[in-house]
Formats: sequence, structure tokens, C-alpha cells
Amino acid sequence: MSLQITRQDLPIRVTASGSVLKIPVFQVTSGLPGPKVYLQANIHGPEIAGIGAIYDFLALLRSLNTVRGTLTIVPSVNPLGLDSKVSGHQTGYADLNETVVGNFNRIYQLWVTDKPSDDPEAPQKVVLDTFAEQHRHSDLPMIKQAFRAALGAAIADYTAKNAPYGMRHGQKLALTIQRLSYDADYLIDLHTAGDAIYHLFTFEECLSAARYFNLRHTIQLDESFSGVLDEAFLQPWLRLQKAFQKLGRTIPFADFGVEAFTPELGSADTLDRIAMREDAERVANYLRYRGVLDGRAIRHEGEFFYAKQDHYRRYHAPTGGLILWHKRAGDHIMAGETIATLLRTYALEADGTGETEIPIVALEDGVIISASESQVTHEGMGICSILTRLQSL
Ligand SMILES: [Zn+2]
Repeated sequence: MSLQITRQDLPIRVTASGSVLKIPVFQVTSGLPGPKVYLQANIHGPEIAGIGAIYDFLALLRSLNTVRGTLTIVPSVNPLGLDSKVSGHQTGYADLNETVVGNFNRIYQLWVTDKPSDDPEAPQKVVLDTFAEQHRHSDLPMIKQAFRAALGAAIADYTAKNAPYGMRHGQKLALTIQRLSYDADYLIDLHTAGDAIYHLFTFEECLSAARYFNLRHTIQLDESFSGVLDEAFLQPWLRLQKAFQKLGRTIPFADFGVEAFTPELGSADTLDRIAMREDAERVANYLRYRGVLDGRAIRHEGEFFYAKQDHYRRYHAPTGGLILWHKRAGDHIMAGETIATLLRTYALEADGTGETEIPIVALEDGVIISASESQVTHEGMGICSILTRLQSL
């Protein structure tokens, strides 16, 4: 069987005027057994680099005869986000139509729990200890299959109990994405970050793949859950491993064969032909490494770094003003060096005095990964993010 690519458009929202917002979803297979891959981009409207990467990646796939397994590919998963502009500026990080505005990448749910709900009318999640006990002696393929079935049942139960009341758009969007991806082996969620250099978010268990994506700076996610897709996808498996461990059964995490990545493809609201091709190649190279695509994967050489999530420090404006940069994304910075000056012309007195310039000083050594796109800031807004206490990968 040769390569087959199909497209299906999922309706996600009808607007007040009757327009229907749809998500195009591509399925790719050639009938060979293998892993399931879920690849999406553009959950945040301004983050368009991933759309271009997937456009080129689909062209690359069309040049192949076979893939192993199946790929579910969503080039632009959030039409409302992409279409959100205010006065010419891309704004789709959250649903501005809602009274409760939430970040589109904090809306996902964890379908596992440590304790069963005592309310029978509440949606039932997968109770980890119970599941592990039931499968104490099952072999690994059986565990994986049963766990995916249980996750699917939890999603279906949640949907059945909430849909009759109608769902907030973000809730429906998250459910749609999780329904498409919960049973995948490999999940890749393409983002960008402000004015940024390329970097990667992933888990300790998946760190070795950073070299195949050719992303030199990685933030290692911890065990906290904040509603992000990569967490919602991988944490159930991490927690399942622990539940088995409690019963005295050690399952090496790699045996589950699941991985999750959030590559950040540079800056928001930028698109470039060369970068599209390179970014498609990052994804392709990882999938060669994982045997989904034929061909030899390149393990990129050179220095690769990672740091723990706690050491990825976001600096916020101590007061309002205008930002004058001393450093840029990608710059190394030492503790005590000035990252930027906050210019407060509003503090200027008639005699020329006043505290008009406030330095933003680095507290630790590190690399500036991303910086604010705008040079106008209110107190408390993000100025930049610095990766500190770097370790070699
Ligand atoms: Zn994003």
C-alpha cells in the first residue's frame, strides 16, 4: 500500500453571524504497523512558524512511499486564535470573546487521579492505584492498550456529562485536541515565544531527543500540572509508572514508548521560507530517529544544554515604562549585568531630576531565551525569560 493522506475538517465553533470555524486534520498512513504520532501547531494565534513547518513537512511526507504507523497532523489547530487581531496586532493567546479569559495552552485536562470521586454524577477519571492493581500481572502491550482505553473512557465520560450544558469554547477545543491525541505514542506541539531563540520544553525521560530536533536549549519540565498539552499527555504515563512502582513492579519509562515535546520555533508572528524547511526537517529527523520515517536520523553534535523548569526565570517589570534593551534573546548574561533599562519619562521633573531610568539587573548567570516583543510595559508584565544553571546534555 502506498502513502495515503486524507483531510477532514472538524467544525469547532459557529459564530454569532453563522460563520463556521473549522480545523483541518490530516491523517497519514501507508498501512504499515508502527507508532501513532500527533503533531499540531498554532494553538496560540500569533505562533505561525509551526504552520509553515507543517506545510513543508506535509510536502516532505508526500515525497515518501511509506511511513510506519500513522500521523495525525493539525497545521493550525485554533482558528479563533489565528483570526484574533486587535488594531492590526496578533492577539490570540486567549479567547478574547469570553468573560473568563484563559491561555489556550492551559486548558487541557489530566484524565488520571489518585482518588476516585465520591460523586457518581461527576466525570470519572482513571484511578491510578486501582488500574495498576487490576493490571499488576498484565504484560506491557496489555497495560498500554487498557490504559489508553481507560483514558478514552474518561474523556467520553467527561464529554457526556458536560456537553448537555454546552461547553465553553476553550473546553471544547481542548477536548477535541485531547480526543485526537490521547492515544498517541509521540506528541509534538509546535509553538513560538515572544522575541525568542529556538528552544524546547520536554521531560527528563525525553531529553535525549533534543539533539534530533537540533534544539540547543531545553527546559526540563517538572511534575507540576498547569493544564499544558505536553503535561496532560505525558503525566498520566509518568504517574502510571509510579503507581506500578508502589506495587513493587518496576516498568522502565522507555518501555511505555511515549514521548512529548513542545518545540518553540523562535519568535512569534514571523514566517520565513528557510526556517519552514529547517523546522519541517527537525520534525522529520526526530521521526526518523523513532522509525516512523525511513532514512538515517542525524544526532546533531555540539553543545546542547538543559535546565530545570524552576531555573527558567521570568523577569517582570517592577514598574511601568518603556524598555531599552541592553541584551537580546540568545545573549549570555552574568549575574549583575543589566538586561534592560526601564525608561520612565513620566518621572521627569521640570528641573531635570527624577528617577527616570531603572535598570533591570540579572540575578543569576544564564541565557536569555525570550524577551517581550513590545517595548512598552506596565508593572508586572513579562520582560524576558532567562535559562539559568545550565547543564550539558
Ligand atoms: Zn505558545
